[in-house]
Amino acid sequence: MRAAVYCRVSTSGQAENGTSLESQRDACVSLAIRGGYTVQEEDVFIEDWSGADLERPKLERARERIRTSAVQALVCFAVDRLARDPIHVGIVAEECAKRGAELIFVVEPLDNSPEGGLIRYVKGYAAQIERERIKERTLRGKRSRARMGYMVQATGKGIYGFRYVPEAKKRVIYDPEAQVVQRIFQSFADGDSCYAIAVRLNEESIPAFSGGLWHPLTIKRMLQNSSYKGSTIFGKTKRVALSGKRYRLEARSQDEWIEIPGATPAIVSEEVFDRAQRRFAEPRRATTNASRTYLLTGFVRCSCGAPIVGTCLNRRYRYYRCRLTWPTSTRPKSCDQPYLPADNLESNVWKAVREILETPDIILAEIERQQGESGYFDDERARLRAAIRRLKEQERRLIRLFSLGDVTEEYLTQEIRQVKQAREGFETELTVLDAEQGRLEDLQGLGQRVRAYCDQVAGRLDEFDHDDKKLAFQALQVEVVVDRDGAVLKGSVPYDLATTERTSA
Ligand SMILES: [Zn+2]
Repeated sequence: MRAAVYCRVSTSGQAENGTSLESQRDACVSLAIRGGYTVQEEDVFIEDWSGADLERPKLERARERIRTSAVQALVCFAVDRLARDPIHVGIVAEECAKRGAELIFVVEPLDNSPEGGLIRYVKGYAAQIERERIKERTLRGKRSRARMGYMVQATGKGIYGFRYVPEAKKRVIYDPEAQVVQRIFQSFADGDSCYAIAVRLNEESIPAFSGGLWHPLTIKRMLQNSSYKGSTIFGKTKRVALSGKRYRLEARSQDEWIEIPGATPAIVSEEVFDRAQRRFAEPRRATTNASRTYLLTGFVRCSCGAPIVGTCLNRRYRYYRCRLTWPTSTRPKSCDQPYLPADNLESNVWKAVREILETPDIILAEIERQQGESGYFDDERARLRAAIRRLKEQERRLIRLFSLGDVTEEYLTQEIRQVKQAREGFETELTVLDAEQGRLEDLQGLGQRVRAYCDQVAGRLDEFDHDDKKLAFQALQVEVVVDRDGAVLKGSVPYDLATTERTSA
C-alpha cells in the first residue's frame, strides 16, 4: 500500500499558516507510515503555489497517482494546504473516493468546520461507492450465471403463474395460476380494460399473487411481462440507492438485458402476447377498442338511465351490461339489469336498422306524418297561451275587487288558488308542446339526412362492416333502451319505428 504526500507553501502569501515545507513533509510521511503505508521519494510532491488554484503542476501529478491507482492514499498536512477553495477540496476528495484511495490530513479539520463537514460527506460518499462496487461484483456473478442458462434465484417474490425450482434452476408452470394468466391475456385481447379484468377477478374471489386483491396496474404489468410468452430476461432493472436502506429500481437499456434460453415455459402464445402489446400501442386504447369490439356502444341505454357498455365474460362471451351494475371506488352497484348477450342484441338491432335502410319510405312517411301534426300542435299551443292569458287576467281582477272592498279576503284566497292551479296546469302542457315542436323542427333535417344516407347505401347493406353499421346508427339516431327484465328491447329509430324487438333471452 503506497501513499502520496502533498505539501504546499505560498511565498506570495507568507502569513499562510507558517508551517515549513520540511515539517509538513515529515509529519505527513510519519502519519502515512503509522497508517500502514509506504512512502516512496517519487510519491512526495512539494510546491510553492497559491492555494487558490486547483491547477498546480505538483498537485496535478499527485492526483495523477491517485487516478492511475499507483497509490492508495493521499496525505496532506491540513485541508488549506490541499486547497483554499472547499469545492477544490471536494474535487480531489471525490477523485480519491472514486479510486478507493484514502484522503488523510495530519491536522484533521474540526468536525463542525465547513471543511470537516465536507470531508465527512466525501468519506460517506466513498463508503457508498464501495457498497455499490460490492453490489456490482455480486451482480456480475449473477449475470455470468444467467449467461450460462440458469435462472438466477430472484430476490423478489417470483412471477405469478410460475414456481421456481431451485434444483433445476428453472421456472415451471403452476397450473391454477397459469389459467388465470391465460384468462387475463384473452380478456384483454377481447377488448376488456385492465380495470375490468381486475374487478372481475376480485368479484370471483380469485386471489392475486400475494393473496390480496387484483389491481389494474398489476394486470397491466403482467400483460407486459414477456416471461408469459416463454422468454426469460435478466437484468432489466438495477437498484439505485437512496438515503438509508431505501432504493429505487431503474431500467437498464435493452442492450444490457440478458435472455436466458429455455428457462421459462410459455403460458400464452407469442401471438396472444403480441396482440396484447398491440393494444397497449393503440392510441386512446380503452375507448377505441371497446367501441370497435362492441357495435352498440354509445347507442344503448339502460332503463335506469345509465349507459350500457360492452363486457366480456370467461374470455369469449361478449355481453352488454348497465354501467351501474358494477361498483367503482366512488359509488356502489346500483342497478340489477341482467347482462345481455352481445351477439343477440347486436343482430336484433341491426336487423331493425337494416329494415329501415332498405325501406326508408316507412321512416320518411312517419317523419312526414309527424311533421303534419305540427299544424295541430300550433293550434293547441295558441289555445293554451290564450287560456293562460285569461287566467292571469282573472287573478288581477280578483285582487282589484278585494282592494275595492267588494270581496272578503277568504273569498279572494280561495278563488286565487283555483285560478293559479288551472294556470299552472296549462303552463306545464305548453312546455311539453313547445318541446314537441322543437323535435318536429329537428325532424325536417333528419328526414333529409335519412333519405340521402339510404340512397347512398342502397344495395350495399350485405357488405356492411362494423364501422358502416355504426355510421348507419348515427345517421338514423339509433337509440336502444333496455328494459329492466332484459327481455324487451325498446328501440327508437327515431320515434318508436323499430320498437320492440323481442329477444328470446
Ligand atoms: Zn341500469
